[in-house]
Amino acid sequence: MNAVSEKLGQEQVRIDLGENWIDIREQIRKICKDFPGSYWRALEDEQAYPSAFVQALTESGYLAALIPEAYGGAGLPLSAAAAILEEIHANGCNAGACHAQMYIMGTLLRHGSTAQKEKYLPQIASGTLRLQAFGVTEPTSGTDTTQLKTRAQRDGEHYVVNGQKVWTSRARHSDLMLLLARTTPIDQVQRKTEGLSVFLIDMRDVLDRGLSIRPIDAMINHNTTEVFFDNMRIPAASLIGEEGKGFRYILDGMNAERILVGSEAIGDARWFIAKASHYASERVVFGRPIGMNQGIQFPIARAHAETDAAELMLRKAAALFEAGLPCGDSANMGKMLASEAAWHAGEACMQTHGGFSYAREYDIERKWRETRLMQIAPVSTNLILAYVAEHVLGMPRSY
Ligand SMILES: Cc1cc2nc3c(=O)[nH]c(=O)nc-3n(C[C@H](O)[C@H](O)[C@H](O)COP(=O)(O)OP(=O)(O)OC[C@H]3O[C@@H](n4cnc5c(N)ncnc54)[C@H](O)[C@@H]3O)c2cc1C
Repeated sequence: MNAVSEKLGQEQVRIDLGENWIDIREQIRKICKDFPGSYWRALEDEQAYPSAFVQALTESGYLAALIPEAYGGAGLPLSAAAAILEEIHANGCNAGACHAQMYIMGTLLRHGSTAQKEKYLPQIASGTLRLQAFGVTEPTSGTDTTQLKTRAQRDGEHYVVNGQKVWTSRARHSDLMLLLARTTPIDQVQRKTEGLSVFLIDMRDVLDRGLSIRPIDAMINHNTTEVFFDNMRIPAASLIGEEGKGFRYILDGMNAERILVGSEAIGDARWFIAKASHYASERVVFGRPIGMNQGIQFPIARAHAETDAAELMLRKAAALFEAGLPCGDSANMGKMLASEAAWHAGEACMQTHGGFSYAREYDIERKWRETRLMQIAPVSTNLILAYVAEHVLGMPRSY
């Protein structure tokens, strides 16, 4: 593997080029072989959770890649987690059922108390507890997170939570939920980012006792839900860090989330490109392989170039993250470029396969639907462009 160094002010950061984490990638490929397209298609028919796949990943230890060794995890850096997720997607699988554990857990790691970490992390690492649900988005406030309406009010040794979340993925398949709620009304804080708090909720204690979960019939099998809180009482000890500082804690984790989701998009793009270039070379129409036509080969080649470029940006973001340096610019841009590269690769793959791309057994239409999400969640492209315009280019805030 090659490496380049980039000077950033006084700091020098090393970026790995080529295939990194080779052994881990090899192991992930082996796991993915047991979960071919037919496995994912059958799950879609039932809108079922990929329990066997998540179990295999848990047993392999890869889901606990980012948990420190002291708490039973592998203690690996973010680039290893990115390689794991990329490889899952490059091999036709989907990590959406379990990836949230990797980035949600950072909030607990960075801001949780020692007691909370000791209580939860070893069990999460061993797979006896699932931390897969992340409740931020609400139906009325959408991307404008500080306007969220869910309220958590202190009542002695408890908080009482009322409100609603939407698109809370995996809530029915997780034991724990990381929840962002307002603890101080917005008209009583100086800045709208203040007064929000993060809670780690054990959903097993409150399900049907203040907490209800309703599945959303969605375009992809993402096990996503609406969640309702009706006077849900949770122990005060569920609070992570300081009350009122939750927005900052969530923001801290977002760069990691963008790098990891961007890596999944890179994996999708690699899958589409491999499938399209293979088919283009094999499929003969008008007496020659369709890949001899530039109208077929150029979109695939362009998607490959875009994917390589996006991957470099994400590698840079991961290297900065691991060095403890600001990485918001490259994490945001890398996620945006990767999601677009994956979409272009998906489009090229669809077009290359002609009518056969509509046959479910090719898995192209499934991956195509799945990869479209990455331009919307966890953050939509417009919001990334707004970030770049304001924070990188110094233009006035647009919203
Ligand atoms: C399958 C799926 C799974 C999800 N999983 C989770 C989850 O587990 N947890 C969770 O909390 N959320 C989850 N989400 C929610 C996701 O993060 C949001 O859908 C996403 O952040 C966009 O928010 P919104 O849908 O409310 O869009 P809105 O905020 O309503 O925005 C709609 C559109 O308008 C654009 N827009 C809004 N404001 C501006 C502006 N000022 N300038 C320019 N454009 C603007 C947006 O970019 C977007 O394209 C999931 C969503 C989906 C579809």
